Amino acid sequence: MPYGYTGRILHVDLTTGTISDEHPSESFYRHTMGGSALGLHYLLKMVPPKADPLGPENVLVLSVGVLTGAPIGGLSRVIANAKSPLTGGIGDAEGGGFWPAELKFAGFDAIVVKGISPKPVYLYIKDGEAELRDASAVWGKITGESEAMLREAVGDKRAQVLQIGPAGEKGCKFGNILNMSTRACGRTGMGAVMGSKRLKAVVVRGTGRPEIADKDKVRELAKWGRDNLEESGAWGMQLHGTAGGINGLQETGALPTRNWSSGVFEGWEKIWGQTMTDTILTDRDTCYACVVRCKRVVETKEPFEVDPLYGGPEYETTASFGSYCGVDNLVAIAKANELCNKYGMDTISCGGTVAFAMDCYEQGILTQEDTGGLDLRFGNAEAMVAMVQRIADREGLGDLLAEGSYAAAQEIGHGAEDLAVTCHKQEYPAHVPQAKRSLGLIYAVNPFGADHMSSEHDPSYAPGGGESIERLSAIALNDPQDARSLNDEKVRFALTTQYVYSLLDSLGTCMFVWGPTWQLYDMEQLRELVEAITGWRTSLYELLMVGQRRLNMMRVFNAREGIAREQDMLPKKGFIKLAGGATDGVGIEETDFLQARERYYAMAGWDENGVPTEGTLRKLGLEWLVD
Ligand code: SF4
Repeated sequence: MPYGYTGRILHVDLTTGTISDEHPSESFYRHTMGGSALGLHYLLKMVPPKADPLGPENVLVLSVGVLTGAPIGGLSRVIANAKSPLTGGIGDAEGGGFWPAELKFAGFDAIVVKGISPKPVYLYIKDGEAELRDASAVWGKITGESEAMLREAVGDKRAQVLQIGPAGEKGCKFGNILNMSTRACGRTGMGAVMGSKRLKAVVVRGTGRPEIADKDKVRELAKWGRDNLEESGAWGMQLHGTAGGINGLQETGALPTRNWSSGVFEGWEKIWGQTMTDTILTDRDTCYACVVRCKRVVETKEPFEVDPLYGGPEYETTASFGSYCGVDNLVAIAKANELCNKYGMDTISCGGTVAFAMDCYEQGILTQEDTGGLDLRFGNAEAMVAMVQRIADREGLGDLLAEGSYAAAQEIGHGAEDLAVTCHKQEYPAHVPQAKRSLGLIYAVNPFGADHMSSEHDPSYAPGGGESIERLSAIALNDPQDARSLNDEKVRFALTTQYVYSLLDSLGTCMFVWGPTWQLYDMEQLRELVEAITGWRTSLYELLMVGQRRLNMMRVFNAREGIAREQDMLPKKGFIKLAGGATDGVGIEETDFLQARERYYAMAGWDENGVPTEGTLRKLGLEWLVD
């Protein structure tokens, strides 16, 4: 029995209904660390170029990392990979909860799903055994209902349910995959892929535990986390959730407002995490073994009834349905969050798409006739909530918006194309690139589109960054730069921390708990943890190679699809001068951005088209991808 991982990968062919088991070598696990890099391996081997993302040739991989299941916080993450129906390139999304640890307890490190089932099914895994079962009774049900029905169907209250909602079933391009009806593998439309396969859910239950090489060391690290939590940057997450940082974003002009025309929002205080704590918060929730407890639970009756079963909004959700849309009504934001969790939609893409439609409406590109009677102006909370429901139901304009803002803009025309705020066709997350320049570069070059969890944010490397600066020296970043700088050192910061976050997505670690700057544990503790759980003698160098390997595998996947330099671009709104606050009049010069992109390619070992060179692939042990 290996340490950390189970050594078993489950393969499911939905077309034929067959299930088999693979036992990869130890070196395979060490090469990928499980998680996203493992998923990429199967996609590159199994999905032919130009495959239809919603067709039988696409493959969905659900995986956990080699650390998942150990009794310490921030390790219970599931990673979903497939070709994305939203971006047309590689898809990647991570979510927390209890399902990831339960998959390990049930005896598997990953599930590789191909084909399309002739009828709705769910996969039931219990203690090393797996079977496909009829899901017609839960097909079409909202997540909370189907979760309860599936637990009853398997006769086990403790079974964990990973599933899609009706939006994924109906092919919403930003349909997501949830467990606990709140923990979302949110981005790149992985729920739409699962829906196209007619796979409603994966229900898991296990009584095993992964073997750990050095249990005392793991206990010691867990105790250290408990003892030091209140002094760490993660403590604020427990107090006020991720939305507790809204005041800082407002102050620095980095809070996206009214479809990215400003970095400040006059209603910021009403949607702030602290305000949520003082008004609608009823509980704090957590993922398996995690002491941080950053998850929110809210309950309201007026003006919208919000069911606490669906949790509460995190920062990205709060900004997407709040400041993006000019909405300062926290209850309306909580309602939009609830709807997304009930129907299975990514809150960032959904909010970004509603904000795009509002911008079109304000500019007369869309009329009240187009919106089905909704007065879709910025700030109209009722209209925002109504439009989210219509997207979930694919009703009227909602049917078009369910394709995402990029595709909707192409269809609407008349200048709507300039109002879609996407990279690689995926909506921006809630951080203004004009205020965080290297993050903006990563939005553009990240293989699965604009993402805020794929590199460290600029303020962590700004002079005066305190403990973050000290910690960054562990990965050879010793020359802090202004947050708005995009010089060579800043590009090196972006790329190096991108390798770190890429590693975290392969290990399956939560970036609020383990990371290079303000997180509870630093990178050296992460290295110690990998050694303690797996028994491998490792180094930060080896670990960062895993992150680099995953990133390069993603670039190769996209290159096969014809996606490269041309798509590594910010949208028109990404360059504009913002209005108001600390970023009043601040834009990004296109020439500065293009120069930084060229430097980034060179530092990454890619050619002028952004494609990994033969030398880079061979260095990473990816020679099988050279051709
Ligand atoms: S910090 Fe939050 S998201 Fe991360 S593992 Fe803990 S509870 Fe889950």
